[in-house]
Amino acid sequence: MRTETANEIFLRVVRHLIPRGDAPSLQVRFRPFAGLRLNARYDRESKCILANLSDILRDAPPEVMEAVATTLLWKMYGKRVPRRANKLYRRWVNSPATQDKMLIARRTRGRKHLLPPCGRVHDLEALFDLLNRRHFGAALRKPALGWSLHAARRQMGHYDPAHDAIVINRALDRSGVPRMALEYVLYHEMLHLKHPVRLQGSRRCVHTPEFLAEERRFPGYDEAQRILQSLQPWP
Ligand SMILES: [Zn+2]
Repeated sequence: MRTETANEIFLRVVRHLIPRGDAPSLQVRFRPFAGLRLNARYDRESKCILANLSDILRDAPPEVMEAVATTLLWKMYGKRVPRRANKLYRRWVNSPATQDKMLIARRTRGRKHLLPPCGRVHDLEALFDLLNRRHFGAALRKPALGWSLHAARRQMGHYDPAHDAIVINRALDRSGVPRMALEYVLYHEMLHLKHPVRLQGSRRCVHTPEFLAEERRFPGYDEAQRILQSLQPWP
């Protein structure tokens, strides 16, 4: 039996949504996005639903494509997306094979924007080496390090596995920010190098219990949290 194309699956879902009225025409397009993006909108001019899907979805199994169609179209028609569709899609997204494809797409198509590690006040390279010796027996390999382009209000740092880079919020590169707060943020991101993401059912657990236990062992953990909460306003 021939498998349905993405377009046919989307049409079937939209006909199910509008059983009596005139179902609009529809076009599914696969795009080389850097991430797993998907969107759908109704184009008044052509009277056509245009769905743009990341080309990572091209090889998705039919039941996943149906879940994607359901998610996008039900949302478009203002209906609540069935949980089953959501769960099916999430399970596929979080599967190791899909995660690998996403990583490769981001690495090859996306660019990492970051400022050099040597900031106005702090040098992330030196700080990384220091923390690596102090907390990890100098066993961690060094990823790319840099300051974020903009001062962020909430995100203090992140580790990006696609570009193997730790990016620290440049709002922390100020003399008024206690150094231990910055050390704690970098320490947290370094723990991501040590503790890989774990799959729990259809969910990805980024901060595993082992990760959190080790994070709490940071000397001055509570103090660092308090300082980070009170840091405001941003420059
Ligand atoms: Zn984290």
